[in-house]
Amino acid sequence: MQVIILGSGSPIPAPDRAGPSTLVRTSVGDLLFDAGRGVLLRATAAMSGALSFKAVFLTHLHSDHVTDLNDLITTRWAMSFQPTPLTVIGPAGTATLVQRTEAMLAQDIGYRLAHHENLSWNPDTQVTEVSEGVVFEEGDVRVTAAPTDHAPVHPTVAFRIDDGGRSVVIAGDTVPCEGLDRLAAGADALVHTVIRRDQIEALGIPRLIDVLDYHSTVPQAGTTAERAGVGTLVLTHMVPPVQPGAGHEWIEQARSEFSGEIVLAEDLTTIDLPAAGQ
Ligand SMILES: [Zn+2]
Repeated sequence: MQVIILGSGSPIPAPDRAGPSTLVRTSVGDLLFDAGRGVLLRATAAMSGALSFKAVFLTHLHSDHVTDLNDLITTRWAMSFQPTPLTVIGPAGTATLVQRTEAMLAQDIGYRLAHHENLSWNPDTQVTEVSEGVVFEEGDVRVTAAPTDHAPVHPTVAFRIDDGGRSVVIAGDTVPCEGLDRLAAGADALVHTVIRRDQIEALGIPRLIDVLDYHSTVPQAGTTAERAGVGTLVLTHMVPPVQPGAGHEWIEQARSEFSGEIVLAEDLTTIDLPAAGQ
């Protein structure tokens, strides 16, 4: 299994960081987790793309995690030579989001249907809303969900992917919580969104201070990883953006609580989790 951080950014635009999105390359194909800004650009760089995804999983419906879902739906549909339904698995509300996204795309869908003789079907998106338990199973691959705590945003979920005896957890946005602890226990890797309390408080911008109460700080992500006994903690979705040359500060804050390997993600950072015996 391979974990590729497609987008390591946050809602704050940064020139070299796409929005939140992680590709997990499994023995049965590519699974996509969240679809932030620029997801298909980075997926292409990772030799994947809209037609490659076996399923798309959404941790929650905050705009930065879903903003390019429309691009995914359109590109998969417009580049297909036959109907290729897109499976989307996310928390309650996902079906409405997809329905409204397809409604937003109605003009474009109409233009292309009228123009291309060999395109005669609408985008087909198959949504499953989930909260807990096994949500995808194929071959050796199993994806399990558990609720997280990103209140007042609700519901939100994290996902654990198991394949060939290896495992990775995609936490999404959350404060430390029981659901994430349960999923992360003993995982090889934990991909965790983080914010810097010290920097946000120093900036003193009210709308940024608001986000402190529903995100994990870097040390809190470290605490969760340590409690779960994970092998590698991958920090991503850094708020505020990492200042040039200051990456070590983020690593040090996580290190204060976590004894395993720490990776500060950039776009296309890759974590290899070879199946046991390979
Ligand atoms: Zn969020």
